[in-house]
Amino acid sequence: MERGSRRLFRGPKREQMNIAIIGTGYVGLVTGAGLAQLGNRVVCLDVDDEKINGLKEGRMPFFEQGLTQLVAKNQREKRLSFTTNIAEGTAPSEIIFIAVGTPSKKDGQADLTQVIDVARALPKVLNTYKIIAIKSTVPIGTLELITQMLTKAGLKESTDFDIAFAPEFLREGDAVYDFFHPTRIVIGSSNSRVMQTLDELFLPLNAPIIHTTPITAQMIKYAANAFLASRISFINEIANICDKVGADVAEVANGLGYDKRLGEGYLSAGIGFGGPCLIKDLNALIKMSEQQGYEAQYLKAIIDKNNHQIRQIVFKIKEVLGSTLYDKVIGVLGLTFKANTNDVRTSLAIKIIRLLQNEGAMIKAYDPKGMKESKELLSRVKFCKDPYQAAEDADVLLILTAWEEFKELDLNKIKKLLGKLFIIDGVNIFNPEKLRRMGFTYQGVGR
Ligand code: NAD
Repeated sequence: MERGSRRLFRGPKREQMNIAIIGTGYVGLVTGAGLAQLGNRVVCLDVDDEKINGLKEGRMPFFEQGLTQLVAKNQREKRLSFTTNIAEGTAPSEIIFIAVGTPSKKDGQADLTQVIDVARALPKVLNTYKIIAIKSTVPIGTLELITQMLTKAGLKESTDFDIAFAPEFLREGDAVYDFFHPTRIVIGSSNSRVMQTLDELFLPLNAPIIHTTPITAQMIKYAANAFLASRISFINEIANICDKVGADVAEVANGLGYDKRLGEGYLSAGIGFGGPCLIKDLNALIKMSEQQGYEAQYLKAIIDKNNHQIRQIVFKIKEVLGSTLYDKVIGVLGLTFKANTNDVRTSLAIKIIRLLQNEGAMIKAYDPKGMKESKELLSRVKFCKDPYQAAEDADVLLILTAWEEFKELDLNKIKKLLGKLFIIDGVNIFNPEKLRRMGFTYQGVGR
């Protein structure tokens, strides 16, 4: 067993547990389907009728590799079901996972509205003792708040419920893989009965299990995301210096990655980190520190660097196109916050497009999975049927998401279609020398 891990459970795994998951989003649905595949009976709940009705008919609310098949199999084998009825969904459960959203408020604090709504609904439906395990990323104080709400409503801790924090570390785009191959399971609880039951549930995943207090578990989740974000800001800083001195940041990252003290993950230079978690959780951690009278300067610098990196991309475009972007046609490939997802929440591609539009540029865009979602966020964009249409007559081709489809583009065809042979590769998917040899003016990030 690995350092820091500890398992309480020593007996054979029980055949089946009854689980309810409240919040059937990226985390809730993948966790629900995964736990069902492990043999448990799982009910996934949501307030969104359309989502639940779609799932009942086999339609996924978002794109995630392998999820459709996993959900279908477990539905067919009667281990996984969906409902909007919280009483019906939670009644048979021993464990209720809460996996609702915790988006950012305007000031950066975590918005706990969805969690509070669930805590308000629970007293009316808790019929027997339940473990309430929070999967949503929530700031310190949230478990105490939920406990207070439940006890005020007449429920007794230990008798009617216990509460734990079980953070989620999955990556969108690899979420199903991550569910079945977790690097570790963290269980934040001060109650051995709770830890034993959750140990038992996660035992088949064969991952190190870390037991801590709920507060430490919350800090593990926030620190993990802050650290991942810091690596991206770090490598982007190095990339910008590489641009100045003529080094190749991909080779620098490769050289760093061999050092076990450094590790190789999250060292891809690019446009910065977007998506639904890293920025929101960093801001929440900064705000949480502030509320405790501490200014988290280092964390603020990570965010500043991320914002700076977006401006760098715009600056690069101006460098090749001249000082004004007015009426310049920019072909954009990639709208989602990363490849293999249709999630455009806090996607930097969307942010960059808006910045370019503010400077008068005309945008033609394509994404393999995120077109519908982007149309809801962007106006005045010509959405194209494929990457080639986005490149046609463009003054510059801008790559903003590292989709495999873009790596395999027919560059000779792109060469014929582009108005000018400018490519700005914000995610470093191409070989600079090859493109330059082909006659493109190519700029990556730090190479
Ligand atoms: P999401 O927005 O995709 O899903 C949240 C779901 O909760 C939605 O379907 C919403 O309709 C539902 N919901 C809202 N209020 C509800 C209520 N009162 N009762 C029932 N359902 C309700 O969110 P997500 O991306 O799955 O994230 C969930 C949590 O997990 C967040 O705290 C997030 O920070 C954390 N997390 C997310 C990821 C990720 O990659 N998306 C990874 C790790 C942790």
